Amino acid sequence: MASIISCPHCGARPREEFTIQGAVLPRPASDAGTKAWMDYVYLRDNPRGCHREYWHHTSGCRRWLVITRDTVSHEVETCHDAALAKETEARP
Ligand SMILES: [Zn+2]
Repeated sequence: MASIISCPHCGARPREEFTIQGAVLPRPASDAGTKAWMDYVYLRDNPRGCHREYWHHTSGCRRWLVITRDTVSHEVETCHDAALAKETEARP
């Protein structure tokens, strides 16, 4: 596991300050049906390689982050504020 994560608000901080919160998955529509919601809530892939995850800077700024991490080497490739990343992704 990467020992240092560069938080966009706090800078380089030790990994122990963060809590991993799970994969970044597209949320189903509210009327998507039981199977789509069961998959979204309970089923997870076990990917090898580059993977996007939500992390919480629990002992720092307490912001939610989107981290792109290699699940083999545990190297962090990118780290963005989740709220700001959502705004950026929504723009054309
Ligand atoms: Zn932070």
